[in-house]
Amino acid sequence: MKSLLTLKQKIGLCLAGLLLLLNVFTWQEVFALNGPHYLKVDVLDIGQGDSIFIETPDMRHILIDGGPDSAVLGKLAERLPFFKKSLDVVILTHPDQDHLMGLLYVLQKYKVDYIIWTGMVRDGANYSKWVALLEQKQQQGSKIIITKLGDKIKNGNVVIETLNPSENLEGTFFKEANDTGVVERLTYGKNSFLFTADIPSEIEQAMIDANINLASDVLKVGHHGSKYSSSETFLQEVNPNIAAISAGAHNTYGHPTQEVLQRLENSGITTLRTDQSGDVQMVSDGENIKINK
Ligand SMILES: [Zn+2]
Repeated sequence: MKSLLTLKQKIGLCLAGLLLLLNVFTWQEVFALNGPHYLKVDVLDIGQGDSIFIETPDMRHILIDGGPDSAVLGKLAERLPFFKKSLDVVILTHPDQDHLMGLLYVLQKYKVDYIIWTGMVRDGANYSKWVALLEQKQQQGSKIIITKLGDKIKNGNVVIETLNPSENLEGTFFKEANDTGVVERLTYGKNSFLFTADIPSEIEQAMIDANINLASDVLKVGHHGSKYSSSETFLQEVNPNIAAISAGAHNTYGHPTQEVLQRLENSGITTLRTDQSGDVQMVSDGENIKINK
């Protein structure tokens, strides 16, 4: 029987097969590297805002905030396997634009199992979009969780505990959202990470006064390095080795401020900045933390 394929088509098919084979090996390598026993925390360089991507050793994916625009979508695509269009957990710390906007894109593109936030109320079109999207996601099967002090997410040996707000804020109106920011402390084996949203020093102090355990190896510095956050007392309580600051290059707020950089330096803390280094990745085996810049 005469072949239906021309020589050119046959060569094309062979090449495609070869590429597929190579691709399989590449993916196996990626999975091997991504394999169990490592926790990865990426403070994403999304400009002036916050977005933190976490991959647990069991390959669960958690996103804390989405930054100010759609840039987060590119960052997720780089980190998730090409076939994965879902996230296990999305956390909105507070509905300010530089944390919220990217999540509006994420919720439209990704299936999300759990969406965690405070349920606080505020004005504004983007807040309304968020609430409408939550309703839509809930109909599609997402679970919406209102979080407060003491709530925990567990995945294997990874535990993420909410340290702020201290009470349920669902339905409460706030003009200034920073005080309501969801603070999370993640522990994996002997390592710990503290994510402080944009909370000001008053909330830092309130957590200290409430005897909450804040001690952490890594601190995601509050409010992009604003001088009204990261007080000396707070830095002493957290006592981190590493501080990660998410701020946009040449932002108009002057973040991070000299005051905070100085406080971190005085305490001998290694400081990583997305405006200088781009994405900052920390990898933990439960004992040690390695920094990939
Ligand atoms: Zn912010």
